[in-house]
Amino acid sequence: MRTVSVEELHHIESLIRNCTLCYVGMADEQGVPYVLPMNFGYDEEVIYLHSAQEGRSISILHKNPQVCITFCTDPKLVWQDEEVACSYRMRAESVICHGSVIFEEDYDEKVKALNIIMKQYSDRTFSYSVPAVKNVKIWKVPIDKVTAKEFGVPGKKAQYKDRKVF
Ligand SMILES: Cc1cc2nc3c(=O)[nH]c(=O)nc-3n(C[C@H](O)[C@H](O)[C@H](O)COP(=O)(O)OP(=O)(O)OC[C@H]3O[C@@H](n4cnc5c(N)ncnc54)[C@H](O)[C@@H]3O)c2cc1C
Repeated sequence: MRTVSVEELHHIESLIRNCTLCYVGMADEQGVPYVLPMNFGYDEEVIYLHSAQEGRSISILHKNPQVCITFCTDPKLVWQDEEVACSYRMRAESVICHGSVIFEEDYDEKVKALNIIMKQYSDRTFSYSVPAVKNVKIWKVPIDKVTAKEFGVPGKKAQYKDRKVF
């Protein structure tokens, strides 16, 4: 089974849209890494995140806004020969994005960002109370660099089986 790089933006966007979660990595002033699982939205090469106004992540980002955001689709365990350990793989796709966080302060832009985040999880239309919009911190991350890979891609002749993980 092979690992394949994904180059086409359309394909990368569809991988991101298939995820329910991302992992946002940042580094504090001492270079100590801090990685958070977060919900997200995606639109036109920008990742949208939301959070409380304060916390460790916000303090770090005010000093160093650079982030590395990783997405991974639900993995499936696959193998070519059940008895051969090194034929086991995870079949999944992952995307790694680099960029810098910009905190959005404009009210209407914050509503737009919340709609983009909700679109990732629901087809419904939502409205938000004024305090909810004012109190939420919106993070916009224009993507500077992106790479994507598919793992556990079967070769032409390979037969493989899959099973649910756990
Ligand atoms: C599936 C999932 C989705 C989430 N989506 C969002 C989201 O969209 N927006 C959002 O703001 N938050 C989300 N969270 C929570 C997020 O991971 C952070 O806990 C939260 O943002 C607070 O981060 P902070 O740096 O302000 O933490 P602080 O409150 O400042 O954290 C204090 C300390 O608690 C510990 N801590 C903080 N978060 C975590 C954690 N997740 N796991 C273990 N220890 C932790 C750290 O050691 C930190 O130093 C999500 C969590 C999960 C599990």
